[in-house]
Amino acid sequence: MLNFALGPVMSSDLIIEIGAQQTPYFRTPEFSQVTLENERLMKELLGADEKSRVIFLTGSGTAGMEATVMNVFNKDDNVLVVNGGGFGQRFVDLCELHEIPCESLDIQFGHCLTQEMLDEYNNKEFTAFLVNICETSSGVYYDLDMISKFCKENNLLLVVDAVSSFLADPLNMVEQNVDVVITGSQKALACPPGISIITLSEAAIKRVESTKCKSMYFDLNDMLINGIRGQTPYTPAITILLQINARLNQLKDDGGIDTEIKRISDLANDFRAKIKEFPFEIKCPCLSNAVTTVHSNEIIETNLVEVLKNEYDIWVSTARDDLSKSMIFRVGHMGDLTPEDNDKLIDALRDMQKRGLF
Ligand SMILES: *Cc1c(COP(=O)(O)O)cnc(C)c1O
Repeated sequence: MLNFALGPVMSSDLIIEIGAQQTPYFRTPEFSQVTLENERLMKELLGADEKSRVIFLTGSGTAGMEATVMNVFNKDDNVLVVNGGGFGQRFVDLCELHEIPCESLDIQFGHCLTQEMLDEYNNKEFTAFLVNICETSSGVYYDLDMISKFCKENNLLLVVDAVSSFLADPLNMVEQNVDVVITGSQKALACPPGISIITLSEAAIKRVESTKCKSMYFDLNDMLINGIRGQTPYTPAITILLQINARLNQLKDDGGIDTEIKRISDLANDFRAKIKEFPFEIKCPCLSNAVTTVHSNEIIETNLVEVLKNEYDIWVSTARDDLSKSMIFRVGHMGDLTPEDNDKLIDALRDMQKRGLF
């Protein structure tokens, strides 16, 4: 199997080996040390300051999104949500479900966020800004520096879903004034799904502390208190936390976040150069390094994604753009992939082209 899907992604042998071990009991000083080290390493990677805290929540990335909405916001907020696809819509739905006032800043699927779009929301009565910095459904990366400046000028709390962007695109919580970063275990962290990671600035922690969360399991304040001693209120996905620990240490030893971002961005550029020989097009000028969204120039009868999976054992992701009839697929660059793996995908596409499938 060769997996270019957008999560789960290919894990290294080290991570796979940890997954094959017996699960240890977790109410121990040894496991607390692992959790505390995970928190330290995440803060380092995100450029978070000393007063920030990290929560490792058992659940997929959406659990982190929902817990954030439930614990950071309340009815007195008015949240501006960037909505350019499936994940932006998920934030809008979560705000509506939890009765948090919000406005959807709608962007056409596959389009970039521009300064002009933001300018329309200057000096309005918003309190916070919510964005999936890589809208994985389209691959679009929104300009974080631009957003950060807008939030600073308008005094907005900035919450960034970086589930697919963390380790693929630059992000520094202090330099870019980010108050909450949400990520997950199964994207560029290249571990199995099951842990969502929420990093909170001091301002965000204050909000969590003063918000009454109407959920026992998703109560982030309870998690912050337990986290001081490296523990969680309930049994976490222990093995995944051990895998995350190995991965974070490996990232640190390999040169830190910049090294990994460069590796992923080189891999993306390698693929984007190689795909040029086909009658496909990369339409979006603001893609994340994590993913390349490829459009076919013509209508293709064959479902390329299905054929790749069933006949070549290579997985890529489909995408939906209701406005365009062209076939779209998304190729991920996260996880344990190499330029040679890109070659295997290109070879498979050449073979399919030779077979007259497109
Ligand atoms: C993958 C992803 C999530 C989380 O999705 P889950 O299926 O709940 O893990 C959230 N936001 C973005 C931008 C993602 O790419």
